Amino acid sequence: MSHHETDAERRMNSDMADDMADDMAGSLTLDANAVAGRMRELFGIEMTAVPSACAHCGNVAEMGTLNAFTRGPGVVLRCSACSGVVMRIVETPDATLLDARGAAYIRLPRTGA
Ligand SMILES: [Zn+2]
Repeated sequence: MSHHETDAERRMNSDMADDMADDMAGSLTLDANAVAGRMRELFGIEMTAVPSACAHCGNVAEMGTLNAFTRGPGVVLRCSACSGVVMRIVETPDATLLDARGAAYIRLPRTGA
């Protein structure tokens, strides 16, 4: 592997297990609509009504109905059915890291359609 991880990427990966325990201990939960503005900037469209499929349990839900956890270095969006991590967003000074490995797919509408 010649891929060199940045500090943010490394932190993102190592936090995965930690987040799981932290969230169970009762971290601040927000509706995903709270991060809708950031998502709109990233994707260029309104994301709250965009369907995404959970890679863990197959549940298809609008992004706005996911559970958003904003404690920690970024935003974590969890499946409302199985609590699996669907998406993570981490901001660094010069980039936004989007981890969507927990989404089987995200169904983006065609613009102008
Ligand atoms: Zn799920």
